[in-house]
Amino acid sequence: MNKRERKKFEKLLREMRDQKLKYIAMLRELAISRTQREASGDVSAFTSHPADISTESDEREKIASLITRETAAVKELDAALERIEDASYGKCEACDDDIPVARLQALPFATLCVKCQAEAEKG
Ligand SMILES: [Zn+2]
Repeated sequence: MNKRERKKFEKLLREMRDQKLKYIAMLRELAISRTQREASGDVSAFTSHPADISTESDEREKIASLITRETAAVKELDAALERIEDASYGKCEACDDDIPVARLQALPFATLCVKCQAEAEKG
């Protein structure tokens, strides 16, 4: 991968990272506002409906798992940006082949080429 392509991916990765960080901040606020509403007792109006209670806690769980997932994605993006820094970005970690640009466009934090990814998934 040449320098120009690397720059392009760096920009893409940084944009994705910014978006994810904004999304995480929004999810956190959502989680906090829900907790506050429950603490202030606003939710008591619903307590006569058990279905609503389970929906509330389901949703809280969903938000928590989204935060976990997005945080993990940010870490992957950070790692990809580090690989851009040390110029190892775009190389397969297993066989050292170049990862096709089309694959990186679809999956900018891919660390394996298609072949090695398939091997890894087979176990
Ligand atoms: Zn490979």
